[in-house]
Amino acid sequence: MALASYNVCMSFSWTPHRFAGGALALDVANSVILRFDPARSVDRFAEEEQMDAFAKATIAFSAERALFGELSPVPPENRVPFLTLREAIDHYFRARVLGDDGHGLLADLLEATAAILRRAEKGALEAATAHSALRLLADEEITRLKICGNCGWLFIDRSKNRSRTWCDMTVCGNRAKASRHYRRKKKEAKP
Ligand SMILES: [Zn+2]
Repeated sequence: MALASYNVCMSFSWTPHRFAGGALALDVANSVILRFDPARSVDRFAEEEQMDAFAKATIAFSAERALFGELSPVPPENRVPFLTLREAIDHYFRARVLGDDGHGLLADLLEATAAILRRAEKGALEAATAHSALRLLADEEITRLKICGNCGWLFIDRSKNRSRTWCDMTVCGNRAKASRHYRRKKKEAKP
């Protein structure tokens, strides 16, 4: 496990694709990839350097960069509540897409948000993430929230006809197309 995360760290960088959520709170939640598959799931924030690099990358790639500006990394004492907030964001908004959002998950999200707002400096990633989550809760765009059919990321579908299936067509759309093609070829090859 330690070796695997070392390798991930050495070859990993934040790219526009990793900010496909369309809101900072969702991009933070999406720092865990393949959540639905524990065997292949990876937490990009498990490495502190990667979490710090995420804060720096927001000014280039976050859909809310104009709103929040440059963000400072999460200080060590706020990392645990920040990760609690991340999980609360994922659980609540994922359940909301699935139509299964009970009061308990919303309460968890509000508690995690309050815990961060009480301790975070203005301009820090964790404060902006809390604000982003609260904005999303109250925003009409919540009706455009979806779960990527390939990687399981949360994203806001801002397309005109609300027809997006993938967080990012160039990555997940193509991967899904390739695996469909592969399965078809395999079927055809069978006598
Ligand atoms: Zn995806």
